[in-house]
Amino acid sequence: MKIKCIGILTSGGDAPGMNAAIRAITRSAIYNGIRVKGIYRGYKGLMMGEIEEFHTESVSNIIQHGGTILKSARCQEFHTQEGRQKAYTTLRSEGIDALVVCGGDGTFTGARLFAQEFDFPIIGVPCTIDNDLSGTDFTIGYDTALNTIVDAVDKIKDTANSHERLFFIEVMGRDAGYLALNGAIATGAEAAIIPEIETGIDQLEAFISRGFRKSKNSSIVLVAESDITGGAIGVAERLKKEHPEYEARITILGHIQRGGSPTAADRILASRLGAAAIDALIDDQRNIMVGVVNDRVVYVPFNKAIKHEKKMDTSLLSVLKVVSN
Ligand code: ATP
Repeated sequence: MKIKCIGILTSGGDAPGMNAAIRAITRSAIYNGIRVKGIYRGYKGLMMGEIEEFHTESVSNIIQHGGTILKSARCQEFHTQEGRQKAYTTLRSEGIDALVVCGGDGTFTGARLFAQEFDFPIIGVPCTIDNDLSGTDFTIGYDTALNTIVDAVDKIKDTANSHERLFFIEVMGRDAGYLALNGAIATGAEAAIIPEIETGIDQLEAFISRGFRKSKNSSIVLVAESDITGGAIGVAERLKKEHPEYEARITILGHIQRGGSPTAADRILASRLGAAAIDALIDDQRNIMVGVVNDRVVYVPFNKAIKHEKKMDTSLLSVLKVVSN
């Protein structure tokens, strides 16, 4: 079927570079003779018909901005068959014959279900700061969040050094420790406590037994947010109980990690993947995420992308251990 009109939406947590993706998808569609409709507030706006025709100038001057001009929302109703039926009715009445959805694994789980139920073409563009989608080396927003973490930790290090203190700094990444691990390497931190090795080694004990503070006048540990470790607060409480001789300070970076102007790497990735999403539709690809592996664009079926089977490169852990020695 020849696609004549697409809808674009952003859903789930926002990520810097979403605007660059919206711009690339819009411009690339128009370049290929396809009409574009912007859908506001994710699946919620799709159900409610919050839709506007997009033109080339609708996406002017947005590439440098964080957040998303289309807004994002979480939508419980889309979990129900009635909710998805409402969304389908809107698409039909708007004359939209394919969707490009920008988001993370929840967004793609919903997209996969919807595509199957209604035999509707959907392409996913991976936008999440956590970098936790399988089948792509990087997600849009990850590089910017990592750089924000590096900036913040560099500042905290000045205080840590001046007062000879131990800091536990909590970063995002509930299911994936990329931000914590690469953030630790990039800031010269002593350790990272990440979800991938929660069950294997006791990471706090490993850090203590390596003799932290023996030769240094401050220590920084990056801790990925986690229900299991309790994040930075949980780890600091454990330290207080088990090693009362040490005192730690806690910083939770929180939402600053999501905001800000996207880095060049994220703008370029978003532009490449936005254009690739339209190429994929023209190629008759359906229900896939576009990703990048070894710097080449790839098509990844939704069920593979959302499987959480992306493997952490364990050599990075060894690098951190060696260089923080
Ligand atoms: P992030 O990784 O940044 O949190 P995300 O895309 O994973 O982004 P979610 O809030 O998990 O964010 O999902 C976004 C939306 O996708 C949900 O609000 C809901 O509308 C839809 N969605 C998620 N899971 C499902 C599901 N199992 N069935 C139908 N819709 C779903």
